Amino acid sequence: MAIAETEQLPHINSMHSSGLATPTSAVVIGGGLAGIAAAVGLAQHGVRVTLVEARNRLGGRAGSFTDPASGQWVDACQHVSMGCCTNFSHLLRTIGLEHFLSPQTKLYFITPDRRRSVFKADPWPAPLHLGRALWGAHYLTETDKLRIAWGLFALLRAKPQADPPLLPWLEAHWQNRRTIDRFWAVVLTSALNETIDRIGLKYARKVFRDGFLRHRDGFVVHIPTVPLGRLYGDELRTWLAAHQVHVREGIAVKRLHILARETSTAGMTSLPPDKSWTVQRVELRDGSTLSADWYVLAVPFDRVGDVIPAEVMEQETYFANIRHLSPSPITSVHLWFDQPVLTLPHAVLIDSCGQWVFNRGEVAPGEFYVQVVVSAARELRGAGRAEIQRRIVDELQRLFPPVARARLLRAKVVTEHTATFSAVPGVDRWRPAQASPIANLAVAGDWTNTGWPATMEGAVRSGYLAAEVILARRGQPVKLLQPELGEL
Ligand SMILES: Cc1cc2nc3c(=O)[nH]c(=O)nc-3n(C[C@H](O)[C@H](O)[C@H](O)COP(=O)(O)OP(=O)(O)OC[C@H]3O[C@@H](n4cnc5c(N)ncnc54)[C@H](O)[C@@H]3O)c2cc1C
Repeated sequence: MAIAETEQLPHINSMHSSGLATPTSAVVIGGGLAGIAAAVGLAQHGVRVTLVEARNRLGGRAGSFTDPASGQWVDACQHVSMGCCTNFSHLLRTIGLEHFLSPQTKLYFITPDRRRSVFKADPWPAPLHLGRALWGAHYLTETDKLRIAWGLFALLRAKPQADPPLLPWLEAHWQNRRTIDRFWAVVLTSALNETIDRIGLKYARKVFRDGFLRHRDGFVVHIPTVPLGRLYGDELRTWLAAHQVHVREGIAVKRLHILARETSTAGMTSLPPDKSWTVQRVELRDGSTLSADWYVLAVPFDRVGDVIPAEVMEQETYFANIRHLSPSPITSVHLWFDQPVLTLPHAVLIDSCGQWVFNRGEVAPGEFYVQVVVSAARELRGAGRAEIQRRIVDELQRLFPPVARARLLRAKVVTEHTATFSAVPGVDRWRPAQASPIANLAVAGDWTNTGWPATMEGAVRSGYLAAEVILARRGQPVKLLQPELGEL
């Protein structure tokens, strides 16, 4: 419960009267990419950070588990980034992890008849660089390609903030069933983790503009060469330790103790005029408490209500709006064969249940690992794991004949039911800014208002923005957010 009091806000007032209060401390709650980015941004500017993570590892949803059958590290789901993810790559560069990403300058698209098209850039300026690749797509007619070119042109001309339902917009802009299913849905379902009938124009525009039209490198897919547990592992810990970030893993925050105070907010335009909340301390699940000058809450949207008192959740629209966000699931099917079954590093599957297949190579002697990802996997909801596995293996056997000749050693089906928030039309009105109405709290997470869909890039952006909020409120404004590709 929040307690109403009538004292002043001591540390904030003292900061305004006496310049920077040093040393300053912060508790970051949540060790996903948003929390990591916030911790990195704050630590680089002299803030002593304690990072509290409920699980026994960092990385959050972008993480691995240990497969009990083999003892191997397995990613809950393959994660990829793209050339347009400038903040994500900045974070990896800062920590020294960039060499763990392998850029894929060729994308492979395969239809059920096993024909494939290679998508790669020509040495021409954007947006012409991918024109010939689109023209070569074997699964679209020439008229389809003209329809798509017109649709992309119209998309670029759409107002950046306009967010009507996408499907009627596509139909009104000369798209037919085939271009919708085989082009727009193929790209957008994976990028936004949502089916085309549920998404809005705004993020569809963002995906095509940033990923394919704005800069030659935007579309390049970056695939980690190591499990995510390794990616967000030793080097990250070493960097954090060297920058005085104290990591506490395996302990969840139970709740934030928040005080309502009357305060003079003259000159502090980000705070409400007559009343302000402030975090006094955080209580951990083991009953101990932590207190600091500043706090960053970087947990998933469906966990905010666990730690913010109900009174604050109800009274502040900022928090109350979060309940309008809804989740979208992702299913990944992990298969280990006794021999190589794919020659391609990855492939995008057209007119199939699986959307991306990733070839992870020989991960142990005689074990060849393949992962198939199904985004926005609601249609698999009724099917059990065995049925999903059967469906995906049948599909792979039809697409890649070596699969039928190989022996399946092991399989695992993983569904993340709340993988990401759903990018429904107008979703941004429910996504809060990182500057919260609580004086010493910033909020981060891929679901906060970043201008990006739920991605690792969105999470890192939110963390950098949250750190910017705290540093600005502390009287130390800095720019952590990196420019987008095309602004460089
Ligand atoms: C299956 C799947 C596939 C995806 N594929 C991609 C992809 O290919 N490319 C891409 O860019 N993005 C992908 N994403 C999205 C990406 O994983 C997320 O956008 C990003 O990792 C979110 O980071 P975050 O820090 O905002 O949240 P999270 O990663 O969820 O981090 C929040 C952290 O808070 C911790 N926490 C929660 N409650 C508490 C508490 N009370 N106390 C302490 N800690 C707490 C959690 O344990 C977690 O570690 C995928 C997501 C999923 C689920």
